[in-house]
Amino acid sequence: MNRSERFSDTDLCVKCGLCLPHCPTYSKTLDENESPRGRIALIQGWAQGSLAATPELRRHIDNCLLCRSCEAVCPAYVPYSRLVDRFRGETGSAGKTTFQRVKSAGIRIALTDERASRWTERLVGKPGRSGLNLLKKTGFLNALGLPELEAGLPNVSTPARWNDFYPVHGQAEFGRVALFLGCTAKLFDTETVASTLLVLNRLGIGVKLPRTQACCGALHLHAGDEAGARKLMERNLAAFDPSDVDAIITIASGCGAMLHDYPQFDTAPSASGFAERVKDIGQFLAQLAWSDDIELNPLAAKVCLHTPCTLKNVLRAERYGADLLRRVPSLDVAPLPSAQRCCGAAGSYMLEHPKMANDLRDDVLESVAAINPDFLATSNPGCAVHLRAGLTRKGLGRIEVLHPITLLARQLVR
Ligand code: SF4
Ligand code: SF4
Repeated sequence: MNRSERFSDTDLCVKCGLCLPHCPTYSKTLDENESPRGRIALIQGWAQGSLAATPELRRHIDNCLLCRSCEAVCPAYVPYSRLVDRFRGETGSAGKTTFQRVKSAGIRIALTDERASRWTERLVGKPGRSGLNLLKKTGFLNALGLPELEAGLPNVSTPARWNDFYPVHGQAEFGRVALFLGCTAKLFDTETVASTLLVLNRLGIGVKLPRTQACCGALHLHAGDEAGARKLMERNLAAFDPSDVDAIITIASGCGAMLHDYPQFDTAPSASGFAERVKDIGQFLAQLAWSDDIELNPLAAKVCLHTPCTLKNVLRAERYGADLLRRVPSLDVAPLPSAQRCCGAAGSYMLEHPKMANDLRDDVLESVAAINPDFLATSNPGCAVHLRAGLTRKGLGRIEVLHPITLLARQLVR
């Protein structure tokens, strides 16, 4: 198959432009090259040999957040994200500076490589304390030009060590799930993991944590390293037995979206069986029958609910977070306006494209400030880091950013 054939899905685009109003980068620049339609045309031109992968062309493709808002509204079902991932994979580092290449690889290793984190822990001689927490405290991230990560990381105090199985105690087991941890939640969002285990067990659900599970591979795939993403996918397909559990639960919608897409890369039945079981924690809990003896303490507060793009555009599970939080008596749940665009986090995008990421975040935070909540809940840890950093910068650090499951766990009567 030649290049033009490999990218023949670009021909599906009928250039209707219906996606343009939904695209965050187009809304900020009003530049056709920064729109889904324009990027598809650039990839098409490159695939057909009329355009070269110049730094400028590459920049337009790399400026895409892969929020997939365009895919969600496209009447022609153009598989946009697949085209971009494939383009990045086939062009490799063409058109990128050495600094961009090193920074991109460094971020991927820091966030996803378990050995990197373990080495940092060993170096400081404090097992169980996250290396990222140390980097935050020493100002190392700031020195690397990653002040957003520095300001947005929560303090990590819980040892990131988990058992293989969390059984239900003192009541019947109604079901059993496997939990996909994800590197970001595992490294610096341990409260979300602990809250998930607590709530699931209290609802009579036993939780397995397959020890050999790996990073979902999303950061690798979106950086053009499809081979690296496939290796991680194969590890996860081997680690999880979907026939053994009712669901594979994700607590990071970005990871959930990648797991949901595994059948795109591996057409074996195991990938489909795995993907069919994947559910966001909010969706799983909202669809579960709660026993009458589950009580939640009232909370007289206001929570603003942020919906990550992956939850909305890929998992199509945006409505469940509000359903879940409305279970807490007295809690005022205020979703962000439905027309709200991507917050700019988008995996490692916030670190590699800080100007656009921060501009987009400002729009979201303007809505948050108007709602004036006590909490900002989001079901993607990457969005949480980015939004927390923005709130801190704007002097709104009093608004606590957390996962909806954490708020629920805090109110659970034990
Ligand atoms: S909505 Fe779909 S078909 Fe229309 S311009 Fe956008 S990508 Fe092309
Ligand atoms: S994925 Fe998002 S940023 Fe990229 S072209 Fe589509 S709407 Fe725009």
